[in-house]
Amino acid sequence: MTARDVTHIAATELSPPPPRTIDPSGHAIFLDFDGCLVELAERPDAIRVPDDLPAILDRLDRRFEGRVSLISGRPAADIVRYLGDFRGPIYGNHGAELHHGGKSMVRTRVAGELDEIAERAERLCAATDGLLLERKSTGIAIHYRRAPEAEPIVRGFLDGVAARHPDLEMQPAKMAMELRPRGVDKASALNDAVERFGWDHKLPVHIGDDATDEWAFHAADARGGFGIKVGEGDTIAHYRLSGPAAVLDLLRDWAGA
Ligand SMILES: [Mg+2]
Repeated sequence: MTARDVTHIAATELSPPPPRTIDPSGHAIFLDFDGCLVELAERPDAIRVPDDLPAILDRLDRRFEGRVSLISGRPAADIVRYLGDFRGPIYGNHGAELHHGGKSMVRTRVAGELDEIAERAERLCAATDGLLLERKSTGIAIHYRRAPEAEPIVRGFLDGVAARHPDLEMQPAKMAMELRPRGVDKASALNDAVERFGWDHKLPVHIGDDATDEWAFHAADARGGFGIKVGEGDTIAHYRLSGPAAVLDLLRDWAGA
């Protein structure tokens, strides 16, 4: 099986809850942000970061000896803005960007004409009520949470763009669709962290809520670790939690709080 197949696997809705303790010396933890550590909101900028989240992440990072990483579809700078004190590696734009040790880098550059694509997307969003364009350094996302009926319009537009730009691919997300560099996904971020930071003898655990997290569940599984799906929907993850509050509860336990 390749990472490309994972979203097509019909998986059990009966995944059990994850273990309440794991060996901190034997694991590396990978965390999605939206819908995993914070509740989803109407707009990406309307989320609320739980007051104790920075402290939980800090304790977790110490307990797991620095092997805690965030992997988000947002730009890395966004995560830094919300969680400025977090010390671990932050992968943004599904892994296209890495922020670590006070420095940011772009792992993949897109050769496509992003400005022109973004201008056309802007016109589409202006002409269709409820659509919201998010510009990223390596791609674009169109959010349709406020206009679910516009999903086929967004899909048709982005499919058309992807067909003309082979270095880009479409990634459906929750009430949003994205164009991002081909071959960059959360599995590539997880694997990059394992290799870059020498975590290859640790079992990776990935926690996330979205279709984009399935790549990372697959990568964690392939390295002997496991995934935890947050919320409803098909998944290849071994375990499931109901929502961000349950994730924070688990992380408190794992952090030994
Ligand atoms: Mg998410």
